Amino acid sequence: MPTSSIPVIDVEYEQPQPAAGVCSTRHAWARVPPEPSPEERAALKDRIRRLLKEYDAVMVSHYYVHPDLQDLAEETGGIVSDSLEMARFGHQHPARTLVVSGVRFMGETAKILSPEKRVLMPDLDATCSLDLGCPIDAFSAFCDAHPDRTVVVYANTSAAVKARADWLVTSSCALDIVRALKDKGHKILWAPDRHLGDYIQRETGADMLMWNGSCIVHDEFKAFELELLKKQHPQAKVLVHPESPAAVIALADAVGSTSGILKAAQELDAPEYIVATDKGMMHKLRALNPGKVFIEAPTAGYSATCKSCAHCPWMAMNSLAGVAHVLETGANEIRVDPALIPRARVPIDRMLAFTAALKAGQPAGALVPHLGAA
Ligand code: SF4
Repeated sequence: MPTSSIPVIDVEYEQPQPAAGVCSTRHAWARVPPEPSPEERAALKDRIRRLLKEYDAVMVSHYYVHPDLQDLAEETGGIVSDSLEMARFGHQHPARTLVVSGVRFMGETAKILSPEKRVLMPDLDATCSLDLGCPIDAFSAFCDAHPDRTVVVYANTSAAVKARADWLVTSSCALDIVRALKDKGHKILWAPDRHLGDYIQRETGADMLMWNGSCIVHDEFKAFELELLKKQHPQAKVLVHPESPAAVIALADAVGSTSGILKAAQELDAPEYIVATDKGMMHKLRALNPGKVFIEAPTAGYSATCKSCAHCPWMAMNSLAGVAHVLETGANEIRVDPALIPRARVPIDRMLAFTAALKAGQPAGALVPHLGAA
């Protein structure tokens, strides 16, 4: 347990039992810092602007973190984006220090791609139920039991799990990469998010063996309540992140990663949108689409735990005070076992090369070897 005076909340998550094929309920914790007053907020932002210059640092923020951390990142020349663009931006930016506001795997990915840079995070205990639910020992045994399969893992995993993988994907490129692998004859071992894996399997028809993890936020969206909400808002389009259950995805007008949801909201012409993803996304959706109305998709309700609030408790651990503190002190530096870095980098580099080729209109499928090829 942490020693901080900030109140700690208990977070339940599932951890698959490979032998039994079921999940057991485990517990982790999160501490969500208090909101600063307007005066404190302004003073913290001034301090951070100064410290970023002083330490040659840049902010890299995820769409799910506090709006202050999104706005300040953009205002100071950093980025707010999904995990794929966070990785690419941090790698390509010349700053010597990256301040990653998100969850731990995002900081680790930045460090793997840029071992020479200092990577700081507001709170190193900000984790992810997908990462927690995919421990390396059990996952490695799962891979060993299926040596005929190409191992594809989601970005939300530890450096050790990445080092065990052939390919890394994020939700914005998973469909394209799995489709390319299927076209070259690969059978896939997929981890850790079962809903995203099921969605990709349905879309591509690939032969996929699934790990059984889930995101505690997206797993909570409810199809029955969503149908009721749709009836109350008949003009609304439904935008769904594919980490959500299949019955929720089935009600979607657009399914996509955080960037996919942003794109759909800009391209569709409806006045209202029901959004099934972390509510941190609402800040960017509203900023980019003035005049359009965005409504949170229903979760389990207001009476239960932090799992039911459509906001990741670990993303909520990031704060302005945390960013100022780590810049001032150099605390919370991400360290990755140097022995893991070269192996973990292989699947990440494959993903970045594939997505760069796609973006450039080049034949990205050519980067995927036929099964059995060297
Ligand atoms: S929102 Fe879900 S997938 Fe994203 S960091 Fe939180 S638990 Fe992990």
